[in-house]
Amino acid sequence: MGREKIDETGKGNLILVNADHGYKGGKEGLVRFPGTKVFLKEEAAKWLKELLLTLPEGEIVLVSGYRSFKEQTEIFEDSVKENGMEFTKKYVAKPGCSEHQTGLAIDLGKKAEAIDFIRPAFPYEGVCQTFRERAADYGFIERYERDKEEITGISAEQWHFRYVGRPHGWIIKEKGLALEEYITYLRQFDDYKNPLHFRYFGNKYEIYFQSAEEEGFLPVEFHGGKFQEELKSGQLAGTLEGWRITISGNNVDGWIITKEKPDKESREETGRED
Ligand SMILES: [Zn+2]
Repeated sequence: MGREKIDETGKGNLILVNADHGYKGGKEGLVRFPGTKVFLKEEAAKWLKELLLTLPEGEIVLVSGYRSFKEQTEIFEDSVKENGMEFTKKYVAKPGCSEHQTGLAIDLGKKAEAIDFIRPAFPYEGVCQTFRERAADYGFIERYERDKEEITGISAEQWHFRYVGRPHGWIIKEKGLALEEYITYLRQFDDYKNPLHFRYFGNKYEIYFQSAEEEGFLPVEFHGGKFQEELKSGQLAGTLEGWRITISGNNVDGWIITKEKPDKESREETGRED
């Protein structure tokens, strides 16, 4: 099997970033979200825009997206000064371990005169709840839920959403998993012959895990065919035998490979496992 060196497993939409797994990627692929000062990864910005277009204009405010290590450090230190260490550890990830450094996370607030930067209000009702209900269809998950606090290490944050892409957002929501649990769940599908089969919005998917046996090496030939990869927003993507393939690191121990193909049968369905 052909092998080609890529930087590391710390790139792509499915990277797990938390206190145990710091962000190793860079700031490539960021774009400014139209009409704001917020930067996000291009793909995340695109789908967030699509989702917001389905809702009444201006009701939801983008509070914080991409942050550099320096910005995260300042926010952390300012919060320690203002709110104390106990509060800060609950709501602000330590510098180097914040999802905001990936450009894949967005804090949202309900439009108001004054919006709390660290804990914006994003209630479980009205337009905010409608956003929440539609988020998975656009590849976003509510990342820090109350019943997952012990797993994520972060207190419930009703305002923080994380882009993971389609169909992963939908699967994560359907199975009621934290991202930490989803990364673990996918390890059982450890070969292209043993993928998670999924049908969703007119596409069929095969998803599987590829262990990084040697750090930094990724097989780029699948099924004996040649995979023509391209680097886009730090994520590997290409086509092979009619499949659209994206490869994301999990930032822990390997890659998650997502194969996508149009599928007439599932056009009318929201999603289901085969
Ligand atoms: Zn956040």
